[in-house]
Amino acid sequence: MATSQQHICDICMNQHITEYAIVRCPECEENFCEKCKTHHECAKATKNHEVISIEHFLKLPKFVQDINFSCPEHEESFVFYCDEHEKPCCAYCLHNAHTRCRNLSPLHTFTKNAKESSSLVDLETTISDLMENLTNIIEDRSENLQDLVEQKTRFKMKIRTTKEAFNTYLDELEADLLDKLEKTFIEKELQIQNMLKDIELRKSKISEMKKNFTITKSVASQFQTFMVMREFTHLANTAETDLQRLFDSGSFNWIEILGTPADIQSLKDNFSFRENRLGLTLLKNVDMRSLKHNFKVNVQRQCPF
Ligand SMILES: [Zn+2]
Ligand SMILES: [Zn+2]
Ligand SMILES: [Zn+2]
Ligand SMILES: [Zn+2]
Repeated sequence: MATSQQHICDICMNQHITEYAIVRCPECEENFCEKCKTHHECAKATKNHEVISIEHFLKLPKFVQDINFSCPEHEESFVFYCDEHEKPCCAYCLHNAHTRCRNLSPLHTFTKNAKESSSLVDLETTISDLMENLTNIIEDRSENLQDLVEQKTRFKMKIRTTKEAFNTYLDELEADLLDKLEKTFIEKELQIQNMLKDIELRKSKISEMKKNFTITKSVASQFQTFMVMREFTHLANTAETDLQRLFDSGSFNWIEILGTPADIQSLKDNFSFRENRLGLTLLKNVDMRSLKHNFKVNVQRQCPF
């Protein structure tokens, strides 16, 4: 801990002397002044202890400062490392928790050259690769998101174009139907008008016949009446036959306007055919698809621990 206590030599303090500490032995969990440091380096029990400067010790993350050098349970130095439990153990631990463990090795075989080990290089490579991968992924996802926003804008325009094309098509369809209606009406109008003229003519002829026959019947002689009757009977029969023939041929049929209901599918087909001919792409659906990544994730071989 970065308190002033840590800057005082623990050995000297026990002798009521205040000396500033320059190094710390994490194994002894004590700070030493220059003089006590020399003693610590020479004493048989501690000469293999690795000390670090107070300044460097304070730079270490808290969890590293707190790493135990001795077994918290038995208060003995760690001497072995158990691969199965993945933790260091003291001589007492060996006879308790690790009696069945086979992969126990002297701790110093792991710690001796830890900083120069290939495991350390591997870990550094893995961390570096992870950083690179994460950076690439963040960059890629951000770019994709930005691109998706632009794609959305483009698709909105395409959807609008589709709607406008449909509107144009419906406008054209309306104009086309109105045109057909008008042409059909004019044709039938002319047909009925001509028929009316023809029938009016026939009616006036028959009317003339009626008038003449009425006069003949009332004032003419028997012979004259007979002759006119023969003539008019022939004409009236012919007129009647003509009318019957016209009737039978459907000339007096009632005419109605009939709309053929449009089949929506055929409208669509017709529509897409028309538009495809114009080289336009029309949207009928909007969906999403995912493409393969355009970057690689680097993965090192498994950590050998
Ligand atoms: Zn001291
Ligand atoms: Zn020590
Ligand atoms: Zn222990
Ligand atoms: Zn074990």
